[in-house]
Amino acid sequence: MKAFVHNALPGRVVFGVGALEHLPREIGLLGAKRALVLSTPGQKALAEDIARRLGDRCAGIFPHALMHVPIETARQARDEARRLAADCAVAVGGGSTTGLGKAIALESALPILAIPTTYAGSEMTPIYGITAGGAKKTGRDRKVLPKTVIYDPALTLGLPVALSVTSGCNAIAHAAEGLYAEDANPIMSLMAEEGIRALAQGLPRVVKNPQELEARGDCLYGAWLCGAVLGAVGMALHHKLCHVLGGTWNLPHAETHTVVLPHAVAYNYAAAPEAMRRIERALTLAGATTPAGTTRAAQGLYDLMKSLGAPLALKDIGMQESDLERAAELATQSPYYNPRPIDRAGMRKLLDDAYHGRRPAS
Ligand code: NAD
Repeated sequence: MKAFVHNALPGRVVFGVGALEHLPREIGLLGAKRALVLSTPGQKALAEDIARRLGDRCAGIFPHALMHVPIETARQARDEARRLAADCAVAVGGGSTTGLGKAIALESALPILAIPTTYAGSEMTPIYGITAGGAKKTGRDRKVLPKTVIYDPALTLGLPVALSVTSGCNAIAHAAEGLYAEDANPIMSLMAEEGIRALAQGLPRVVKNPQELEARGDCLYGAWLCGAVLGAVGMALHHKLCHVLGGTWNLPHAETHTVVLPHAVAYNYAAAPEAMRRIERALTLAGATTPAGTTRAAQGLYDLMKSLGAPLALKDIGMQESDLERAAELATQSPYYNPRPIDRAGMRKLLDDAYHGRRPAS
C-alpha cells in the first residue's frame, strides 16, 4: 500500500428521516443563541419553518442566496449577520445556500450548521467559491467547513426529479475523481466507492417514485460520502473541465458535471485501472448494469445517466460547437494533476464526444 496522509474532516452529522427535529439540540450544542437562517428565495418557506423551530435562538432570515455566490450577495449577507449580531449561520438548501454560509464564515469564522436539500455535497467540504466581476474564485479554508450537518431525507422529497438526478451525478463525479486523485487514500476510496453505489442504487428509485423516502435516504447518504471525498482529496480533469465550461460559457453546474463525467472517466480509463474497477464494482453492486450486461466504468456511468433521463450532450445544455476549440485550449492551458497527461488533441476529442453525447468506448 502507498504511504498516505488522511485528514479526517471534523464535524458532526445527524442523519435520518425526522433528523430536523434535533435542530434545537444541535444549535444548543454549538452554543449558538442568535442564528441567521440562509436560503434561496425559492426555499424561503423552509427557512421560515427553520426559524420557527429555532424560536428565540433565531436572529433573522436571509432568503437571498443565489447560484455561484455573487460577491454583492455575500456582502449583504455578511452585513446582515453583523447587524443582527448573529453567532451562527444555518444554511438550509443546496450548494448555493451552503456556499453563501461559507462566504460569511470565510470573513467572520461564524460556525455553520448546514441542512442540505440537494445531493451536491458542498456541506462536507472546506471549499468555497465567490463570483466577482464575472469570475468565480475558489479556495480552501477550514473556517468554512460546517460544524454540524443535519441530513433529513424528508427535506429532499420536493427536489424535482431532474435536479435530483443532476445533483446526484455531480456527487458521483466527486467520488469518481477521488478514486484516482493524486493524494487518494484507502479510507476516502472506500467512501467514494460506497457513495457511488448508494447514489447509483438510490437515483433510479427516486426517478421511479420521487416520494420514496428510503431511496431519498440512500441518495443523501451517497451525497454525504461523495462530498466528504471532494473535501478530502484533490480532483483532476473532470472538475477542471467543468470549471472551464461553467466559468466561460455559464453552463449550468450540475448538468455540466453530468454530461462530462462519462467522457472524463473514458479519457482516464487506461491510466487509472484500480479506480475503474472500483467504479465498476460500485455500479454492479447497485444493479446498474449496462444494457449489454457489461459494466465498464465510463459506459456504465453513461448508461446509468441515460436510464435516469439525465442530459447527455453539451449541445443540449447551451454549448456551441464553435466554442469547442477554445474550450480545449483553456483546458490545456495551465498544468494540473491527472492520471493521464492532458493533451490538446485528446481534449478536443473528449469535448467533441461530450458535445454530441456519444456513448464512450470504455
Ligand atoms: P442549488 O443550491 O443552486 O439549488 C438549485 C435550485 O434548487 C435552487 O433554486 C434551490 O432553491 C432549489 N432547491 C434546492 N433544494 C430543493 C428542494 N429540496 N426542493 C425544491 N427545490 C430545491 O443547487 P446545487 O446543485 O445543490 O448546488 C450548486 C452549487 O453548489 C454550484 O454553485 C456549485 O459550484 C456549488 N458546489 C460547491 C461545492 C463545494 O464543495 N464548495 C460542492 C458542490 C457544489
